[in-house]
Amino acid sequence: MIIDCHGHYTTAPGAHDVWRTAQTAAFKAGGDVNAAYPSISDDEIRDTIEHNQLRLLRERGADMTVFSPRASTMAHHVGNEAVSLAWTRRCNDLIKRVVGLFPRTFVGVCQLPQSPGIPISHSVAELERCVTELGFIGCNLNPDPSGGHWTGPPLTDRAWYPFYERMTELDVPAMVHVSGSCNANFHATGAHYINADTTAFMQFLQGDLFRNFPALRFIIPHGGGAVPYHWGRYRGLADMLGRPPLREHVMRNVFFDTCVYHQPGIDLLFRVIDVDNILFGSEMVGAVRGIDPETGHHFDDTKRYIDALAIPEADKRRVFEGNARRVYPRLDAILKGQGR
Ligand SMILES: [Zn+2]
Repeated sequence: MIIDCHGHYTTAPGAHDVWRTAQTAAFKAGGDVNAAYPSISDDEIRDTIEHNQLRLLRERGADMTVFSPRASTMAHHVGNEAVSLAWTRRCNDLIKRVVGLFPRTFVGVCQLPQSPGIPISHSVAELERCVTELGFIGCNLNPDPSGGHWTGPPLTDRAWYPFYERMTELDVPAMVHVSGSCNANFHATGAHYINADTTAFMQFLQGDLFRNFPALRFIIPHGGGAVPYHWGRYRGLADMLGRPPLREHVMRNVFFDTCVYHQPGIDLLFRVIDVDNILFGSEMVGAVRGIDPETGHHFDDTKRYIDALAIPEADKRRVFEGNARRVYPRLDAILKGQGR
């Protein structure tokens, strides 16, 4: 089967975003940031999925999407801890409803309540709720809740450890995923996302995180940012900084997805990165929605690029399915429960 490890609910019903707009307005006015949530019918949710993600999934020939709330609107820099928590719970509950309506097509990954300067230990309860009560299989961890100002410690800092301990106990991976940018220098999806992917990798290289957490797993999305293209730089830096070779120092714990929107980029990714470290992903319907005039196909139809690779079929099966089942053990268990 073909599992897309990277999809967001970018087409959520309008009432969901109306609630968020009212919430942020209430925060500014000193009002209730945890007001009642509007009633959204199952049919409304079905409509938003069937005409978008489900349609494209079928057209492109994939079977399942690892589904999380819209990343750009996590907006951890907006409001305060209470604002982030109330919004995050609504977003995750909505994902749970999608999974409930389409249990063979979607599986949940949670947004986390994060805020600049707030200890990550405060995010543990929502991770637990989503994994143990809602049946989610992972989380999106924002390495920069300030939205482009990088005011917090690096991912390898001990400040993050309480969260990693619980991730390890629950046996769930995290996708390293920033949100919107409130720094005008960084376009959210064109610069901030790719910067963050690259930054996270370099932090892992500099640090010793996986010596302390050998079972911890991260997916760095968008093809690993600039890392595969500059692989020689990172291998050279590891050597210069006295770090072990990347294969043992980082790549037992870090995986890249295939959200790279052209064939030469995918070719390079597969030439440079071990196939066991690559998970199929498209991030559709997401940041880049248009049709490539050079190919006539959607930029984010990434399955097409992998199909075109001259690599063994067994390798493609690992990228499409096997690696995801290994990185997300709870997904593997759900699929086995469905007889897949
Ligand atoms: Zn994403």
